[in-house]
Amino acid sequence: MRLSEAIKNLHGKYKNDLTGDVSKSFPALSQVDPDAFAISIATVEGDVINVGQADQSFSIQSISKPFSYGLALEQHGHLFVEKKVGMEPTGEDFDSIIKLDDQNRPFNPMVNSGAIVTSGLIDAKNYATKKEELLQYFSAFAGQPLGIDDEVYQSEANNAHKNFAISYLLRHFKVMTSDFREDLDLYFNQCSVSVNTDSLAMMGATLANKGINPLTQKRCISHENLRHVLSIIFTCGMYNYSGEWAFDVGLPAKSGISGAILLIVPGLAGIAIYSPRLDKRGNSVRGIKVCEELSEQFKFHIFDYQTPKEISKIL
Ligand code: GLN
Repeated sequence: MRLSEAIKNLHGKYKNDLTGDVSKSFPALSQVDPDAFAISIATVEGDVINVGQADQSFSIQSISKPFSYGLALEQHGHLFVEKKVGMEPTGEDFDSIIKLDDQNRPFNPMVNSGAIVTSGLIDAKNYATKKEELLQYFSAFAGQPLGIDDEVYQSEANNAHKNFAISYLLRHFKVMTSDFREDLDLYFNQCSVSVNTDSLAMMGATLANKGINPLTQKRCISHENLRHVLSIIFTCGMYNYSGEWAFDVGLPAKSGISGAILLIVPGLAGIAIYSPRLDKRGNSVRGIKVCEELSEQFKFHIFDYQTPKEISKIL
């Protein structure tokens, strides 16, 4: 069976699975249609296959984290970034109150504390240009201009008491400087970037295509930094489910509390699933099921060896 057929089948199979609930973190997230369900595949050749409401927009939330980490790596190099944020999974909730490692760093850039520190590393002339730089960087991965959903941004900025608490603690421990409110605001903005499964899958296809966008042929990240980003996504991308995910699915994936999962099949495709009903860890319930079945069916697990001939039969 081909991948395009498989996602149609999986969409049909899980369409009526209404397990889980939408995020209650802030009003804009709790008001979305809980039953929306879309799957998109963007291949490294630039072809896109959509099933369901693939044009329905949603905020990228935590799936922004690997991209802002990529930008920080591109701007400063990994030796500098490594001094500020580590690369160890935490085994804890993504928004748990900070624990720093023995070098006074958040554990990794995929949990909120590490992501807020990473946003603070983004360099530009002033705050407005930082926002612009970030948006352009994300857009290059998508191969199309992306924008910020202001309603989502306002809703998070006015309700993210825990992220404020985390940031004040980061300031207290001198991990962040006195500009931390601006850094946190940039983080809220990056989480509010509006995507749909179609554009998100293309962002993943760029990661799957050695860092080159399949549509524009623009290199978005160096080969070395791409390896760093994919390693972090692989070990930390599904929060405190990352170990089990590596065991079962065996591919780098990043989830966000808006209900999306971005799965990267290196050398083949980016796959985006949107289904806002979440499990207790904040991962999309149907998103997990679709990824598990795809990995199983096509032997995508990185430790399942596939010959080039076998791979050519998938698309
Ligand atoms: N903006 C959300 C937050 O900081 C992102 C979290 C997520 O998607 N896991 O809480």
